[in-house]
Amino acid sequence: MEPFKYSESDQLLKISKWIKESNVSLLAGFTTKEDGFSKGDYSSMNLGFHVGDVKEDVVRNRAHLSNKLNVPINSMFFINQIHSNFIKEITKKDLQKPFHSEELQDIDGIWTKEPRVLCTLQFADCVPVYFYQPDIPVVGIAHAGWRGTVGSISKEMIQSMAKAGVDPKTVQMAIGPCICGDCYKVDEKVISQVPKQFNHTYQKTNSEYKLDLKRLNFDILVSAGVKKENIISTDYCTSHHDLFFSHRRDKRTGRMVAYIGFGFDK
Ligand SMILES: [Zn+2]
Repeated sequence: MEPFKYSESDQLLKISKWIKESNVSLLAGFTTKEDGFSKGDYSSMNLGFHVGDVKEDVVRNRAHLSNKLNVPINSMFFINQIHSNFIKEITKKDLQKPFHSEELQDIDGIWTKEPRVLCTLQFADCVPVYFYQPDIPVVGIAHAGWRGTVGSISKEMIQSMAKAGVDPKTVQMAIGPCICGDCYKVDEKVISQVPKQFNHTYQKTNSEYKLDLKRLNFDILVSAGVKKENIISTDYCTSHHDLFFSHRRDKRTGRMVAYIGFGFDK
């Protein structure tokens, strides 16, 4: 069953199983390109400043998301992603900066153990990997394009979150909407970075390769000690489906947001 459930009322995808079972008022989901204010290539719910859209429209879209989620805009933490495997724990202190000051942060994974801090990362084909340890609780997200994935950003996240008590044997994980193994064509340079033990995650066709980033992330998580039964994975492909912006398909395009946090009013 698809773990990311589309909600007609607010046009967001939500990790319904986690939310239903949560007793910590969890918010966890993924935005779509529907129901925003941006125009043209960014029509309409573009949440990224760095892609060439009109700044005022992005500000309006972020305010609109804040209303939909019923989360104050100054509780939402945005960062500048650089395809690294750098991780940061965020606290309420980090929220004291204006919500659009993401250029201050060059990282690709964030997590928090504080309530009312919403972790957000921006996507258009790369893999959003969600982390949730409900019994503490601790939440986080990583941005795993091919560089982050082969750089083992998910393993780095688990190691970083271990200082808050996160245990790979019990952590809940979700792999969110991203480009699928049919759509993601890459060259030899990328494939040469994929560790040999995971060579079943790509196929060679003529002079190019098709890489299944979802599968690669799944298998890296399992090799990091995460239990298969604790990983849920979406069937949505951002490049196949017109609910989403896709960098591969559209070139100039917007960004969706993956979000997770707890302790918010329903
Ligand atoms: Zn696809």
